[in-house]
Amino acid sequence: MVGGRFIPRFNCRNTPNPRSADVDASRDRAVAFAHNLFRPTTGRLLNSLKQAGIDPKDIDAVVTTHAHVDHLGGNNADVGTSIFPNAQFYITQADYDFGTDESKPKELKTFIDTARKNLIPNKDRLHFIKDGDEVLLGVHAILAPGHTVGHTIFMINSGKESLCYIGDLAHHPILLLEKPYTEFAYDADPKQSARSHVKMLTMLAE
Ligand SMILES: [Zn+2]
Repeated sequence: MVGGRFIPRFNCRNTPNPRSADVDASRDRAVAFAHNLFRPTTGRLLNSLKQAGIDPKDIDAVVTTHAHVDHLGGNNADVGTSIFPNAQFYITQADYDFGTDESKPKELKTFIDTARKNLIPNKDRLHFIKDGDEVLLGVHAILAPGHTVGHTIFMINSGKESLCYIGDLAHHPILLLEKPYTEFAYDADPKQSARSHVKMLTMLAE
């Protein structure tokens, strides 16, 4: 199905040290929607912020779709200090609880260790979001579980324009968007995730 199709290059501007974020400096608030990938082209967050003239100390909010390592691994530096010392952090409690649970199978150790390192030290600045919450002015949370237990996407509105930040709702621009019932091996619950694909894509199409 993919052969012969034009597959756009992903716009990867993130990962290791630190690794995350799309930045929306509108509304007088600097907001980082944390994400990143495991690729040699990633790990550019601080450089991207610097080029945009944004000091990480000026980031007010870090909004996280889910507790995977490639989405929150840039919250804190390896030495434990916060990359965004003045930010508030937003994530679902379901993902916080799952991501910081040391009793999970050892295959998840890297994910759990990274989530703990990047969530627990910021607990006093952490806010648990729920489906439908206006997390920030003009930013609404929409629960889309399946990839993780609390995976959440965000509708960002500015005037008459809207942008949907879909996190890991779909990992492939053809397989999971044109065939949304396709199941993805790295989803916590592939069948629930497939239902979320269809529900969210239907909502976006309307
Ligand atoms: Zn993920």
